[in-house]
Amino acid sequence: MKNCNDILTRLSAYHDGELPADQQQEITAHLAVCSACQQTLADLQQTSAQLRQWSVTLSPLQQERIVQAYQQRRWQRTLRTALGLSAAAAVIAIIASLGWLNVLIPSSSKDVTTVAPSTWEMVAVARDDATTQASNPDQDVALWMVASLNEGGNSRE
Ligand SMILES: [Zn+2]
Repeated sequence: MKNCNDILTRLSAYHDGELPADQQQEITAHLAVCSACQQTLADLQQTSAQLRQWSVTLSPLQQERIVQAYQQRRWQRTLRTALGLSAAAAVIAIIASLGWLNVLIPSSSKDVTTVAPSTWEMVAVARDDATTQASNPDQDVALWMVASLNEGGNSRE
């Protein structure tokens, strides 16, 4: 016969039917001859019944709102991460392509009008200098895009 402490450590799992069949049978057999463990199981059943009474029942609408709130949060987090990664990837790609241009084109033959990066690239790579340059609509849009990406989509509320 197992001692009561060994039974009691598994009594909650026994009550919930989570034990393997042989252990369920072992504990059932012990309970048949041990009034102390029977009493503990009775207390457990009573507590469990009370908890069931207290549990909150949500209406379908409330459940839907909770799910929506959760999914919205998850979506915002995903969007934020994706925007952050794509902004970083864009900057790396631009820097890499500028580096390739420098390798492929000898500096003596560089034609500023054909090699110069687009406004977007200028702003993304050297946006700290952008304020000193003459303002134009394209640059303003590009600046806004960079600022928006750096915010990580927080403004999309
Ligand atoms: Zn016992």
